[in-house]
Amino acid sequence: MAAIRKQSMVQAGRPRANTTEEIARRHLLQPWPVAGSIGAEARGLIGEGDGIYVVDGEGRRLIDGPAGMWCTNVGHRNQELAGVMYEQAMALSYNTPWYTMNEPSAALAARIAAHAPGDLDHVFFTTGGSSAVETALRFMQFYNNVRGRPDKKMVVSRGGAYHGSTYLSASLNGRPRDRDWMDGADGLVVKLSCPDPFRRPAGMSVEAFRDLLVQEFRDTVERIGPDRIGAFVGEPVMASGGVIVPPEGYLPAIRDICRENDILFIADEVVTAFGRLGHVFASKDVFGIEPDMITFAKGVTSGYFPLGGVVISGALVEEMRRSNHADAMFAHGLTYSSHPVGCAVALKNLDLLENGILEHAGAIAPYFQQRLKTLEELPLVGEVRGLGLMACVECVADRESRNPLALDNEVGKRIDAHCHELGLLVRPLIHMCVMSPPLIITRDQIDDMVAILHEGISRTMDDLR
Ligand code: PLP
Repeated sequence: MAAIRKQSMVQAGRPRANTTEEIARRHLLQPWPVAGSIGAEARGLIGEGDGIYVVDGEGRRLIDGPAGMWCTNVGHRNQELAGVMYEQAMALSYNTPWYTMNEPSAALAARIAAHAPGDLDHVFFTTGGSSAVETALRFMQFYNNVRGRPDKKMVVSRGGAYHGSTYLSASLNGRPRDRDWMDGADGLVVKLSCPDPFRRPAGMSVEAFRDLLVQEFRDTVERIGPDRIGAFVGEPVMASGGVIVPPEGYLPAIRDICRENDILFIADEVVTAFGRLGHVFASKDVFGIEPDMITFAKGVTSGYFPLGGVVISGALVEEMRRSNHADAMFAHGLTYSSHPVGCAVALKNLDLLENGILEHAGAIAPYFQQRLKTLEELPLVGEVRGLGLMACVECVADRESRNPLALDNEVGKRIDAHCHELGLLVRPLIHMCVMSPPLIITRDQIDDMVAILHEGISRTMDDLR
């Protein structure tokens, strides 16, 4: 009764909302709104997807430049993934992970363990990237509790990092806009500098910059004390911070310092795993490091199902098991941990990656980077950088000083708007545009993408004149 009354009051007070935009403006809370538009915002409608393309609300076909949010790795409308999702839902749509288990999650854990580096052979499944990072951190806390090191809990993160939107994972975020108006577990986190070679001090070589960053970590460990630091968490390539590829040798040096000081190295591969850098995991295959834990999400199901997880070192699991506290409970779990439908989709997704898509992604990546690099001929572009099938176009007001601050704050949005008109979705990040297309993209499609970006940036330059 109450619900019906409420509905009729709403309808009596306001005309019925007809379009999706109107409905969204009234009822849909979107992620990352500014206060002034909270609960009153409609965003560009996407109706369909097919391969590397999506279709917007006006029927315009667009290249999905950011692959959704770094995730639609095998592309849209993949019949095999859709089929397996249907079949698994018809066979078993859910089981409780508290005291039962299902076949797809065990099979997927084994497949992931086979791809993971070193002795990373146990997998805990979550519902996405934030919950994966949160789970890794809670493992670190529990691990130190049962080892009798309750003070060893601080986490080292970095400026420019993005690790999620749950309380603990968000506390690690290093982009100012993510933290300015939000609270976090500040006492638990210490931040290092962003390892962005483009923003290194003027006149300094990349090698000297790397050494400076490594020394900063050493000094931080010494200042805080290794007995108080539980983990270092880092994206091998910082994604949302602007595709920051760290200097050569930086990650192995950080890894060594962690090992020397009994600090867990947690590689956040939510973006880089499952093909974006041409491998299932990038830590070892691309950067030569063996972390203690790797978090993943996104590409594990190519975005078809919300799934993530943590791969954990067998030695760590063994140490927890052998602690003096055999009854201590790791009181952490999610209703949808090890979801059978998500895990079945991920198994099929892995089949697709292993049977050609990884190879294709690795082979086409140099062309992707090389073609995007040509955009540096445009005066607004300060740098195009990237690795594998992820890249960032960073705009500057002045190439000499690399100053982005004097730029129109909306420059990324302007480029996005022009590109949208021309048939390409880009992900704007203030004065940057990030590109990470589905891994199935072809050379011709890369040419189309770069031609549109070129025109979109040129039109933006005209706007700013
Ligand atoms: N970690 C990284 C590196 C990410 O890029 C993201 C999301 O973009 C997350 C964690 C959070 O993942 P999710 O949005 O699935 O919670």
